[in-house]
Amino acid sequence: MKLKEYVLLEAVMRLKSGLHIGTGEKPGRGEPLFVMKSILKSNMPYVPGSSLKGKMRSLLEVTYGKITPPGSPCGCGKCQICLLFGSGNSNTTFEPSRLIFRDSNLTPESSKMIEKLGLETKPGVSIDRQTGKAKGGALFPAERVPENAEFNFEVSCRIFENDDKDKVKEWLAMGLFLMEQDALGGGGTRGSGYIEFNAIKFDSKDFDKDWRDSCKKIKNELLDRHQIKSK
Ligand SMILES: [Zn+2]
Repeated sequence: MKLKEYVLLEAVMRLKSGLHIGTGEKPGRGEPLFVMKSILKSNMPYVPGSSLKGKMRSLLEVTYGKITPPGSPCGCGKCQICLLFGSGNSNTTFEPSRLIFRDSNLTPESSKMIEKLGLETKPGVSIDRQTGKAKGGALFPAERVPENAEFNFEVSCRIFENDDKDKVKEWLAMGLFLMEQDALGGGGTRGSGYIEFNAIKFDSKDFDKDWRDSCKKIKNELLDRHQIKSK
């Protein structure tokens, strides 16, 4: 198979609520759970490509029933999701994955905003089931990137000679559509990580204004009718 071209998906990812993408480290005494920060970019928070890729993949998998129990990613290597994201298993890798998720950095304006205002810390609260009141000391507080911060989001797509670029675009649109309805990062079921994508471009062309409606319409037929690759 021949690689024909790279096509870029670009968007501005705006936070509609605070975002916590944790470092996975246990906090020290009196410290909150920290968010991921880039040491080279003056300690500014960023969103790792792995978090974005994992979120989009897992949402497409649950939507299209491609989950291998107990909750592992699909590793068949042949379905549309494996073709896009990779099978994650060298025994079932038949061709290279199509999508390369970049780390998302803050836009210059949002960097300035955070330099000025800093990050926020959301208290971690556990509710006492008998009194219905907050119990102290049960959960760690979590550092969050504040709402309205914007990140530059980019996915580079490898288009091979038999691939249908428009179908790759439809799969990506569905991924974004699902991510907007779900949540990114930690504390997603408790308000954090509500995101939206704006100024979306694929192959340097703007997404249609009604792209969300189109996703709603084609949702049920995506797996069967929108094949990214012809035989
Ligand atoms: Zn698969």
